[in-house]
Amino acid sequence: MKYYLLFAFIGSVCTLGAVAQDKHKHEDTEIYTPVPPVVTPGAVNADPPSDAIVLLCGNNLDQWLTTDDKSPAKWLLENGVLTVKKGTGNIETKKTFNNYQLHIEWKIPANITGEGQARGNSGVFLASIGKGDAGYELQVLDSYNNKTYTNGQAGSIYKQSVPLVNPNRKPGEWQSYDVIWTAPLFNTNGSLKSLAKVIVLFNGVLVQNNFELAGPTQYVGKPAYNHPHGASPIKLQAHGDKSEPVSFRNIWIREINPPAGN
Ligand code: MG
Repeated sequence: MKYYLLFAFIGSVCTLGAVAQDKHKHEDTEIYTPVPPVVTPGAVNADPPSDAIVLLCGNNLDQWLTTDDKSPAKWLLENGVLTVKKGTGNIETKKTFNNYQLHIEWKIPANITGEGQARGNSGVFLASIGKGDAGYELQVLDSYNNKTYTNGQAGSIYKQSVPLVNPNRKPGEWQSYDVIWTAPLFNTNGSLKSLAKVIVLFNGVLVQNNFELAGPTQYVGKPAYNHPHGASPIKLQAHGDKSEPVSFRNIWIREINPPAGN
């Protein structure tokens, strides 16, 4: 008798559940507006899509400044190829960004010399924040056949995250980074609200999978979010080592804003 009552009870709960579910309709969870804008993709992934901001194209460096004194960038630009001019300092975009998708191509010269961190070292700082912090560095280095600490090789978030794999091409060949950057957020009192996050495809291969950064890059010591910041420039590094300079080309960016209504 007891068991009979138990089964009857379970049966009635199940029936009630089914009735409750019937009240929901499939359209309740379907979103129709706003409609995401149509974007025409490039013929190949390297080409900027129609809504990209092209940061380097042709022969003008108008969108780049010397980081230290904000004077016009002095690196060498020839036929759309920008080469680091060591001694003139890092350069950064005039425009500032929060969250974005970035495409950037870079090349270690075929005649590269040096070893470890002194072999084709440069970097893409995903936000250049100043205030005593360099920013968040995605390392550029010849890591084709060059031993160094793994969280300092190409595709690493310098001193924080080792790349998942090493898809480096040989010196002399163009390589690409495709980056999805989610900027950190800060509360009005300066405390951290949410960590920076990054996804990196290196030559089309995933090397950073939504890695959460502990703070801006530190050469010595542990990173921490000591300097709250908002939208920031993207910076390219003129590293002080003696090896032959790295080149960049085809740099474009798509700002990522939350869809209207979110
Ligand atoms: Mg570097």
